[in-house]
Amino acid sequence: MDIGPSAYARCELCPRRCGARRLEGMPGLCGATATLRAARSALHHWEEPPISGEGGSGAIFFSGCPLRCVFCQNHEISQEGFGLEVSASRLARMMLELQERGALNINLVTALHFVPHVREAIGLAREAGLALPIVCNTSGYERPELVDELSDLVDVWLTDFKYASPGLAARLSAARDYPEVAAAALRQMLGALRAHGGRRLAEDGSMQAGIIVRHLVLPGEVADSCAVLDLVWELCGNEVDLSVMNQYTPNSRCLAKGGDLARALTDEEYEEVLDHADDLGFEQLWWQQGGTVSESFVPAFDATGVDGPDLGDTRR
Ligand code: SF4
Repeated sequence: MDIGPSAYARCELCPRRCGARRLEGMPGLCGATATLRAARSALHHWEEPPISGEGGSGAIFFSGCPLRCVFCQNHEISQEGFGLEVSASRLARMMLELQERGALNINLVTALHFVPHVREAIGLAREAGLALPIVCNTSGYERPELVDELSDLVDVWLTDFKYASPGLAARLSAARDYPEVAAAALRQMLGALRAHGGRRLAEDGSMQAGIIVRHLVLPGEVADSCAVLDLVWELCGNEVDLSVMNQYTPNSRCLAKGGDLARALTDEEYEEVLDHADDLGFEQLWWQQGGTVSESFVPAFDATGVDGPDLGDTRR
């Protein structure tokens, strides 16, 4: 699979394979042209403990997303296009700046529709002294071939597994093939992890290599959540960490539509899914404490840390 700059000519980087001529300025279904755009680069403290630790994760949020879920909490950047134009060299410098600030890793949030730029930037940053693990924070809706191409670049896969039901995936993300695509991608991630020696933590507990599968429990969809956990268990068992999340927050679109998606998750629904994870035997299990319907996990998208010098610049 071509993941160089020419991949933007008729883009098939993600499972949508929409063929957008991004080099000619045409946006794909993800909303992105061949111009790299990012919305925030900062220390982030709300990921799982092996990712955020004490120091924080060096999170870089990109603009656009191939999945476009109706309940997206990051809709300003994923669907409304907020972000500043940056070069691969600036992106590399952003990674080094995060390292200087004490980040435990470089956490690329929904980045792979820009994979040609991202690959170049990681290479430039490594040459310039980047020593941190690379975390690929993804919706799980990735082509397995792309995961394979990235197996030497990505150290930690922080991947969602959103739905087991094709019907639910079609209704909420217009992606009926999500369950089969996410399963194939996860299988590929696990193969890559095994080839690199499996899960590895540093002495401080920060993850140096591994897979964390995240699942956000949706109100009214406990049965599908349990089916997702069954699938993940069947595919990976205890070779992955499982993170079951309760932070669902209805956005204005969901509030307007009404129904279960207009409300928060109940404690009972969340407990039922956590009990199922326990029953299956997940040992590295992360869960969230405290109430739901809080936007505290969603950072401000105000271009913090995005604008600045390129790698070659001496200005600070
Ligand atoms: S990454 Fe964007 S442009 Fe490329 S195939 Fe996917 S949706 Fe289309």
